[in-house]
Amino acid sequence: MQTHKYSVDENGYYGNYGGAFVPELLYPNIEELRQHYLEILHDPEFQEKYHMLLKDYVGRPSPLYHAQNLSAYYGKTIYLKREDLNHTGAHKINNTIGQILLAEKLGKSRIIAETGAGQHGVATATVCALNKLECVIYMGETDMKRQQSNVEQMKLLGAKVVPATSGNKTLKDATNEAIRDWINHPESHYIIGSVVGPHPYPDLVTRLQSVIGKELKQQFTEKTGRQAPDHIVACVGGGSNAAGIFYPFYDMPEVRLHAVEASGKGINSGMTASTLKKGKPGILHGSMTMVMQDEYGQITEPYSISAGLDYPGIGPAYPHLFETKRVIFSDATDKEALEAARVCMLEEGIFPALESAHALAALKKIETRKDDLIVVNLSGRGHKDLETYKTYLSNE
Ligand SMILES: *Cc1c(COP(=O)(O)O)cnc(C)c1O
Repeated sequence: MQTHKYSVDENGYYGNYGGAFVPELLYPNIEELRQHYLEILHDPEFQEKYHMLLKDYVGRPSPLYHAQNLSAYYGKTIYLKREDLNHTGAHKINNTIGQILLAEKLGKSRIIAETGAGQHGVATATVCALNKLECVIYMGETDMKRQQSNVEQMKLLGAKVVPATSGNKTLKDATNEAIRDWINHPESHYIIGSVVGPHPYPDLVTRLQSVIGKELKQQFTEKTGRQAPDHIVACVGGGSNAAGIFYPFYDMPEVRLHAVEASGKGINSGMTASTLKKGKPGILHGSMTMVMQDEYGQITEPYSISAGLDYPGIGPAYPHLFETKRVIFSDATDKEALEAARVCMLEEGIFPALESAHALAALKKIETRKDDLIVVNLSGRGHKDLETYKTYLSNE
């Protein structure tokens, strides 16, 4: 597998960010994973099973679609990488399929995960049903009330959903509970849902999601005769769909990589999830990264209309990619994302996830030249966001 200066170094760092800041009691679990993950990922038997499941279970390769109506609307040439067509409706399954096979190779009998909006919880419960492993999902009590249909789906898939009742009763609290569980149950594997957490998780999840970018490279050449697009655009919560589609292009400086954060009600409104612009360096979930925090270093609640983007941190690779100027950061407000979702629905008959709509909204903002070819990662489908769309977009 390729490495480059944007990959993690041997100590688990991306420049000044990353690392593994974990309680001593968790160290053996993390160390076991760190020692074995690359060897397992490179194992031919693992690779064969992983690619068979991606093809026959997830439905990959996801199509690369030349969106001619959107292109006419925005006056740019636009392709969509259709992760919305995957089983369970988003890119998250690429990671959970890989991690369940990894857990099997490590001889683990039980799976733990945290979930915010429930999308990662559903993708985890799905692969646990497939591989017949016990599944415990931690979810903030507040989030459980907000995302009832995902909670019901996880339960029907056989998972146990445990409410986190401390703090604000959201994702951060669910993560703390999951870590506590892992310390007490080292026979478990903890499936993290994005390119966050202590080393080696950011690298592990990036590699599992890089199937998106590898497919894109091949599909793009088949469709256009060119080696690579001029721009790739993806939304960033923790950063896994972006990391996956960017990965094979880091060494091609002519390809401009755009990460789009959710700025909520506006970047300076105090109600935002633009972690890179509004956060400060700090430690969250076991790694050094940019974190939304108050003057005392307490984590503050981010805000976005999109449940998948309101994470108070960001994968530790991103501050490094920002400082080295390899990735260009932009943002989209709730309002801009809703408008972009409406355009995508009406122009293309495609119902995007609210998260993905933030990437679409950036089409109005990023600088492009006349004949540039642009790929947007459509990370997921929008059926989970129906209530929000109904509230804000219904024609009276
Ligand atoms: C979870 C989610 C995201 C945000 O997570 P990343 O790790 O930043 O990719 C984006 N889009 C969809 C559809 C999601 O479900």
